Amino acid sequence: MPELPEVETVCKGLARVLPNRKIVGVRQNRHDLRIPFPADLGSIKGRKVTTIKRRAKYILVHLDDGRTLIIHLGMSGQLTVSKKKYAAEKHDHLVLTLDNGAQVVFNDPRRFGLVALAKTKDLAQHKFFTHLGPEPFDKKFTAAFLAEKFKSKKVAVKLAIMDQTLVVGVGNIYASEALFSARIDPRRAAQSLKPEALKKLVTAVRNILKTAIRAGGSSLRDYVHADGSLGDFQQHFAVYGREGQKCRGCSCNIQKTGGVKRITQGGRSTFYCLLKQE
Ligand SMILES: [Zn+2]
Repeated sequence: MPELPEVETVCKGLARVLPNRKIVGVRQNRHDLRIPFPADLGSIKGRKVTTIKRRAKYILVHLDDGRTLIIHLGMSGQLTVSKKKYAAEKHDHLVLTLDNGAQVVFNDPRRFGLVALAKTKDLAQHKFFTHLGPEPFDKKFTAAFLAEKFKSKKVAVKLAIMDQTLVVGVGNIYASEALFSARIDPRRAAQSLKPEALKKLVTAVRNILKTAIRAGGSSLRDYVHADGSLGDFQQHFAVYGREGQKCRGCSCNIQKTGGVKRITQGGRSTFYCLLKQE
């Protein structure tokens, strides 16, 4: 499932090619994904793209008529931009043609993605966004902010930090990695963390996401691919997916610890190392 870094990478790719281009063709190969396509989706034909932004895992394509095309990649969505002559592939649900002949193709085999249209000025109040917490890179996301949000939370910090109403973008992989980096036991009650640990957690979340975005950015091949592939970032995970192996960048003795531990929290795997934890 694309996480925030992948979506950011897709946005960066789109930002290279879409702004100032006019949409000259809108082809819908079905009428819905997770939700129906907007009835007036065809009305973006003739509009020019102004900028590309991201909010949480939503891609925002701002148009020159004060509207925004909202795209979510769901579980398996991919957006590709190609100048080659378009050849239909299975699961291509939406194809936009630009005035330079390029095609923006939204392919989504599992169809958990979505496409919506909204007035740009009303986006903050849009039902997709009202409940969301701040972006992890927003200056609002601080240790003091976390302390306030965590103070009544008895749940494990791993689950608390993944709550999108608290802060967006900390998916399952990044939660394990950030907690490991901050040396916080993922099972600890969120409310029990001291200010110093919360400060480390904020820094760790930002660093992990930044590193992943950078890996994605560097894997962007030129113009053509905006598929959000994260290059070799997986090879840099310190604990995620490494049960029983040595954690990267840690001095623990695998003979004594048995390597990275895996537990299930909220139905998802958590990976951690017990050495030197808060
Ligand atoms: Zn370790």
